[in-house]
Amino acid sequence: MIILAARMQFYFTGGLSLPDRNYYFDTDSRAIDIRQKYVKHVQNMFMLMGNEEAESRKIASSIINLETEIAKACRKKEDTRDPDKNYNKMSFDALQKSTPNVNWQIFTQSVNLTNPDTVIVGQPEFLSALNKNLKATSIYDWKNYLKWHLVRSLAPYLDDKTYEEYFNFYLGTLRGLQEPKPRWKRVVASTNASLGELIGQVYVDEYLPKGTKEKLTEIGNAIKEVYADRIKNLDWMSDATKQKALAKLNTVVMKVGYPDKWKDMSALQIDRTSYVRNVINANIWETNDDMSKFGKPVDKTEWHMYPQTYNAYYNPSNNEIVVPGCNIIVPGYERVMADDAILYSIIGGSTFGHEITHGFDDQGSKYDENGNLNDWWTAEDRQKFELKLNLSLSSLIHMLL
Ligand SMILES: [Zn+2]
Repeated sequence: MIILAARMQFYFTGGLSLPDRNYYFDTDSRAIDIRQKYVKHVQNMFMLMGNEEAESRKIASSIINLETEIAKACRKKEDTRDPDKNYNKMSFDALQKSTPNVNWQIFTQSVNLTNPDTVIVGQPEFLSALNKNLKATSIYDWKNYLKWHLVRSLAPYLDDKTYEEYFNFYLGTLRGLQEPKPRWKRVVASTNASLGELIGQVYVDEYLPKGTKEKLTEIGNAIKEVYADRIKNLDWMSDATKQKALAKLNTVVMKVGYPDKWKDMSALQIDRTSYVRNVINANIWETNDDMSKFGKPVDKTEWHMYPQTYNAYYNPSNNEIVVPGCNIIVPGYERVMADDAILYSIIGGSTFGHEITHGFDDQGSKYDENGNLNDWWTAEDRQKFELKLNLSLSSLIHMLL
């Protein structure tokens, strides 16, 4: 856990407007069609910004050329899964020396990061390419590229014409959707995404039955007990591994219902100036909130889901499960606590059991009770476990075929 308290930053690849690098190079007819429509879409967006048609066409082709250069330096998706190969630790000084054309000091200062000493570079060859492209591309082209990325990311919150143009390419051509969701639904979703912790407080007061936290804790503990029995009764696992598994199970932290401490969002300005301005303000607030964590120990009370989000998660590096309060509600019966038979059937095994199991699956089982990547299995048990995983996987495939 020491590394998390260090003054460290992570750098990963980015900067493309199509879903991944392959879209720039694939030669099948669908890929070619998407690229043609993409260039046309960029051109249309620049025209909506007030540029002439001919100039917009030129700008669009310079943007796809630059993005293609960037895409060349991006790893294939399958090459980004190995955590070791995508974790390259270096000093901030070494980063600056390796990429002299990038002024990292200006970058870190502009996002309020003071004196980082260490960086984790996901893909070093990407930064070398950036270093080269930064000089090889004209300022005029870079300005248009940045303008494009800004407008693209804010298009869902702009005027109807811009949104329609955005929808046609990103949700129509790329994802096959026929028509946009009604505006009120889009606005509710974006408000929830930006102000989820504020909405969550109202939601908890108005919709959750009394005693939600206590009930969820009670169900979670009961499922943990059953889980412990299951581990003890395994006929293939040695006592040594069982003891470690039980220790891990016992330390699984359960965060249920809603956060004990809400985020203070009072610095965020929301007013009637414009919708897009409010979205920008919310993005700024979130970035500042993230940056304020720099150099501090990890806040383990923090939630990464809202109480009104119908979902749950296990986080291996905190060895915790998080179950939002709305899971307890039977639709149509808000504020009413259902009886145990119903509750256990809707959130017992399927939610608590499911999330706890993530702590012991192919990935989670590699983390110890403190959330560190640390193998606590005997070699023999690990081998048996992997054999079982492969067997269940192949029987699953068999069932599907
Ligand atoms: Zn799951």
